[in-house]
Amino acid sequence: MTASQTPPHAARYPAGARAFPHRDLLGIGQLERHEILFLLDEAEQWVALNRQRTKHTDTLAGLTIINAFFENSTRTLLSFEIAGKRLGADVVNMHAATSSVKKGETLIDTAITLNAMRADAIVIRHGSSGATGLIADKVDCPVLNAGDGQHEHPTQALLDALALRHSLRERGAAADDFTGLTITICGDILHSRVARSNLLCLQALGATVRLCAPPALMPAGIEAMGAEVFHDFDAALDGADVVMMLRLQTERMSGQFIPSAREYHHLYGLTAARLEKAGKDALVMHPGPMNRGVEIDSDVADMIDRSIITRQVEMGVAIRMACLEVLTRRSRGVEGWGEAA
Ligand code: ASP
Repeated sequence: MTASQTPPHAARYPAGARAFPHRDLLGIGQLERHEILFLLDEAEQWVALNRQRTKHTDTLAGLTIINAFFENSTRTLLSFEIAGKRLGADVVNMHAATSSVKKGETLIDTAITLNAMRADAIVIRHGSSGATGLIADKVDCPVLNAGDGQHEHPTQALLDALALRHSLRERGAAADDFTGLTITICGDILHSRVARSNLLCLQALGATVRLCAPPALMPAGIEAMGAEVFHDFDAALDGADVVMMLRLQTERMSGQFIPSAREYHHLYGLTAARLEKAGKDALVMHPGPMNRGVEIDSDVADMIDRSIITRQVEMGVAIRMACLEVLTRRSRGVEGWGEAA
């Protein structure tokens, strides 16, 4: 199936550009439920392509995508690069460590420079919350947020939803939204953009979300976003269908947030014994990078029938292909999506 053909669940969203009317992908907070479902459905064709021997299309041939990463990344940078290349685009990576940012260039000047190079899409990771939005205001092409500070990491939440949907379907679930599911997210909720984006995404898809962290690592007032808040991990796990573990974001911590890694593991580490408290066959997720022996034990991370951590990585490439393809439809003049620039 090509990108412009009707996706499998077309009745769920409006036709043409009204299915996804945004120029940028800055956060899950900007998306309606049907727009999330649209991106997930669009990604399915790329999951299929990525499982073939020849994983290449020329859908974005002639387009230039710049991945501007001002913060470290393994999975996200690599998968955006692979996604762009599999779609046939020219992909360029800019690492802050070797860029003029180190010479004192402001974010705005960097944005103006990237814009002058006439990129067709810019993917940005930055340590400051809101930085991607700031850049989006200064450039003429779609901007994709690959993680901005503690704010949002929308493609992570989308790939998590896609991975979960695949795993639930494999287990025979007919529904492809998450109504009736209880998902426990445990870890450094305070500093985690993954927690925020996932809370918004999973709730939009119907799930009940429990957030669990020590009091010092739980944002004040997060209940207002509809989450159930726990400080006792065993209680948060009770009957959960999915357990998503998050890393301690030590790079964002100023001062001492936990007594020690050992103590943290004792109270909030996911061990095989503790997983028993969750629902029967509960699935285990982690966005990576994992700190084995701290927030998650190796035997849990590697459980073949329960852990879907490597599937999350697989789905990351497909969801990023979908986002790049959809956001460039306007400039490519895809029928129903506006004029070619
Ligand atoms: N890779 C995710 C992020 O960039 C999670 C993490 O770093 O802990 O936010």
